[in-house]
Amino acid sequence: MLRPVTATAAVVLAPNPGPMTLDGTCTWVLRDPSSESCIVVDPGPLTESHLTEVASYGPVQVVLLTHGHADHSEGARRFAELTGAPVRALDPAHRLGDEGLDEGDVVAAAGLELRVLGTPGHTSDSLSFVLEDAVLTGDTVLGRGTTVVAHPDGVLADYLMSLRRLAELGDVTVLPGHGPELPSAGVAARAYLAHREARLDQVRAAVAAGAGTPEQVVEVVYADVDRVLWPAALLSVRAQLLHLQDPA
Ligand SMILES: [Zn+2]
Repeated sequence: MLRPVTATAAVVLAPNPGPMTLDGTCTWVLRDPSSESCIVVDPGPLTESHLTEVASYGPVQVVLLTHGHADHSEGARRFAELTGAPVRALDPAHRLGDEGLDEGDVVAAAGLELRVLGTPGHTSDSLSFVLEDAVLTGDTVLGRGTTVVAHPDGVLADYLMSLRRLAELGDVTVLPGHGPELPSAGVAARAYLAHREARLDQVRAAVAAGAGTPEQVVEVVYADVDRVLWPAALLSVRAQLLHLQDPA
């Protein structure tokens, strides 16, 4: 089902709910109301019913990936077969067609101009896409809860810088990779920054209190978090421990 969210963005939820994917991956369909064709952001997992449904909202001019994690990118090749659209991503391994995608690019398609913002930290290849009244954040900012800094590819200092960049966008709607849309990128990014700083303080305190391994830090700092999320928390803790040693 295509659910309109803003004047130019609508979402189709992929059928892959889970502890890391929340209700499932958000596949975004973008078009100016005057445009017949659309831009698709993150086709999602390789699920034929989902991909054929999204393709039915075409014609699709171009496919963009927020990052290479499989729950966003795995279906891209099949989706390109279904639609004939090229796939643009920062990581060359995920591109189909001649064009890449990087910080500062402007994608003009479907009657829209979409500005590419480099927002590494969740992964090194994470991008955000800025529209007039909204920003697509992939897994950099989620609609609910917080995200993982996927050490070693994800780096906390990068992530904090990316959140500061998103905070500067102010009151534009957040169209996330998972979970519901949020009314203000500024508010959401500042809340994430505060959460990260609080976690860093907790990690620092856990180490001072004798937690000797990343696993022990997780047991203390993430005691209130569902254990199915501990493997992800472990990646974030490794990123945080590295950051405390070398904040640059
Ligand atoms: Zn991800």
